[in-house]
Amino acid sequence: MPFSALGLSPALVQAATALGFATPTPIQEAAIPAILRGADVVGSAQTGSGKTAAFALPLLQRLQAGAAHTPRRVRALVLVPTRELAAQVGEVVRSLGQHLAQPPKVAVVFGGVSINPQMMALRGGADVVVATPGRLLDLVEHNALKLSAVQLLVLDEADRLLDLGFADELNRVLALLPAQRQNLFFSATFPTAVQSLAEGLLHEPVRVTV
Ligand code: AMP
Repeated sequence: MPFSALGLSPALVQAATALGFATPTPIQEAAIPAILRGADVVGSAQTGSGKTAAFALPLLQRLQAGAAHTPRRVRALVLVPTRELAAQVGEVVRSLGQHLAQPPKVAVVFGGVSINPQMMALRGGADVVVATPGRLLDLVEHNALKLSAVQLLVLDEADRLLDLGFADELNRVLALLPAQRQNLFFSATFPTAVQSLAEGLLHEPVRVTV
């Protein structure tokens, strides 16, 4: 099945092609149409499956749809366990979004480095934030960032988020988000704690296993 059959706009199909993606991976084929129609999705996916583009492409399309109404308010939030993953995911979202008619502003924030450059980067707002949970909360406390307009939440590598002890931070972030939103949940493994987190978060999710 070609990318063009998944419901993505021609500009995003072009963006995928420009990154050298000729055909969708299985998780992309299954997840993209479900995300585009607004469903919650739970994906069992390893690194290397193409999961980043599986959520980044439809995320960008859903942002384009509402771009005129809420510029530079955080509408999509991607939570990740590590700074390396934050940087990687941010890069994929930026690359795929850069040739769109209204390229989204993507901010990447993570702990372990000075907060000031991240506060500067958030001046004027952002459309997409890719973050580790602790630093995200710090930035909210510094009023550098508001989460009240988030429409789409992605938890990437949810099992590692819990393994690294982010459960408390995660719950504090979730409490700041509007209740009405779309949730995408990706994890390589589903031990009980990860299943409970998914159950508490997701509403009638489409299950994608590859
Ligand atoms: P991920 O699982 O998101 O970490 O992606 C693993 C690797 O697969 C990355 O290097 C991507 O650039 C690449 N990739 C993602 N989707 C595709 C695709 N449809 N065709 C070829 N490569 C892809």
